[in-house]
Amino acid sequence: MGKRIVIALGGNALGNNLPEQMIAVKQTAKAIVDLIEEGHEVIIAHGNGPQVGMIQKAMAELTRSEPEKYIPCPLSVCVAMSQGYIGYDLQNALREELLDRGINKGVATVLTQVEVDPEDKAFQNPTKPIGAFMTKEEADKLVAERGYNVIEDAGRGYRRVVASPKPQSIIEIQSIRDMVAAGLVVVACGGGGIPVYKTEGHHLKGAAAVIDKDFASCVLAQQVEADTLIILTAVEKVAINFGKPDEKWLDELTPDEARKYIGEGHFAPGSMLPKVQAAVEFAESAPGRSALITLLEKAKDGVAGKTGTAIHQ
Ligand code: ADP
Ligand code: MG
Repeated sequence: MGKRIVIALGGNALGNNLPEQMIAVKQTAKAIVDLIEEGHEVIIAHGNGPQVGMIQKAMAELTRSEPEKYIPCPLSVCVAMSQGYIGYDLQNALREELLDRGINKGVATVLTQVEVDPEDKAFQNPTKPIGAFMTKEEADKLVAERGYNVIEDAGRGYRRVVASPKPQSIIEIQSIRDMVAAGLVVVACGGGGIPVYKTEGHHLKGAAAVIDKDFASCVLAQQVEADTLIILTAVEKVAINFGKPDEKWLDELTPDEARKYIGEGHFAPGSMLPKVQAAVEFAESAPGRSALITLLEKAKDGVAGKTGTAIHQ
């Protein structure tokens, strides 16, 4: 019996720049189509760190060189652009791989908005640096004119910081469900989704924030009622005492063990910690659900129970 699987792609599935991404998506498509070939239904989410950084920088340069013509591009728009560009490459790579294997299946990217709570405490404490380094003068101008939050980053210059609030719900969820039901391979929630919050009436306003893609994938997996959430990253398994002489790679992890290890500080914030937290939340969200953290090229073996770290109750 095929499973419904949400795959969260990490940075190494997409590379760091335009040519790297073109090459990386070919391997990524192979790993994904392996699962489709085995009869699984696949929904793909992905990160966007380098891509949104590139877009944000390009848009900032435009404002800098022609200030009379361009205003700073909202971060929510930069995320939307990154979803479009990454979705374009993934769609093409998946289309080609599916056709090469004689599988007749459509692929579609959904520009996805993800609702955040404007009262989320993260907004009071923006921590995520984004975009290029600035001089003090440039930073002061953006603080005064646009209300940006700016920090001095370890003597290297000034940088904008944004909040990383928790995802609440996915605005386009019904479209995503309908497309999955129609048999399409769907790419959604890229870069954690375009962060938005409700204002008056039905209006949605873009938030200057970055949602963690691991948490957004967890919400997506729950809202499409997936059986499995697979987080593909740069390590084959999760470790305790990571990088230390007594490092131990884990085959399985229960939510209780995970909480204990989180408390002991085994998982780095901003990298492995959100993955383990997302995996635990998904595994506990309904009976029979499990999560898997492994390498892109091990996805098939991981689903077969041969490798990776499986998180389940
Ligand atoms: P992604 O782009 O896939 O989100 P990240 O770099 O954010 O990747 O997170 C994966 C990285 O987390 C691994 O490459 C590894 O260096 C690091 N890491 C931190 N703590 C651990 C741990 N306890 N076990 C395994 N990897 C860990
Ligand atoms: Mg990450």
